[in-house]
Amino acid sequence: NYWSDRHMENCLFCKIIDKSIPSNIVYENDNVLAFNDINPEAPVHVLIIPKIHISTLNDLKKEHVGLLGELVFTAGILAKKLGIDKDGYRTNFNCNDAGGQTVYHIHLHLLGGRCFSWPPG
Ligand code: AMP
Ligand code: ZN
Repeated sequence: NYWSDRHMENCLFCKIIDKSIPSNIVYENDNVLAFNDINPEAPVHVLIIPKIHISTLNDLKKEHVGLLGELVFTAGILAKKLGIDKDGYRTNFNCNDAGGQTVYHIHLHLLGGRCFSWPPG
């Protein structure tokens, strides 16, 4: 069925979506969930994820583009809500080992409340 096809057993973030693992939820709608990172790298560190399981950016299909737009749109809305929009903030997706991905359910990091260097390390 729709849910079991899109929900991955043994995926940490799918468990956060179904609330079998607790998280500090910042925003939720039918398509996306945003929650505080458990190990924040900045005063604001929110993870924004799709409610369907997609392992990495490499696994995106054309049908996901609207959903990805919603993740980015949510980052902008939350930046305003959390008061980091004017100073500025960092958003990023990590992909696979070299990109620093550790949880294999795509997530957009929203970081703010301090200055970030560029280029990243
Ligand atoms: P990445 O390294 O890009 O895959 O990011 C994974 C992020 O998930 C890291 O910043 C972790 O701190 C965060 N994380 C891992 N477990 C949890 C959890 N149970 N709740 C919230 N964030 C988590
Ligand atoms: Zn998942």
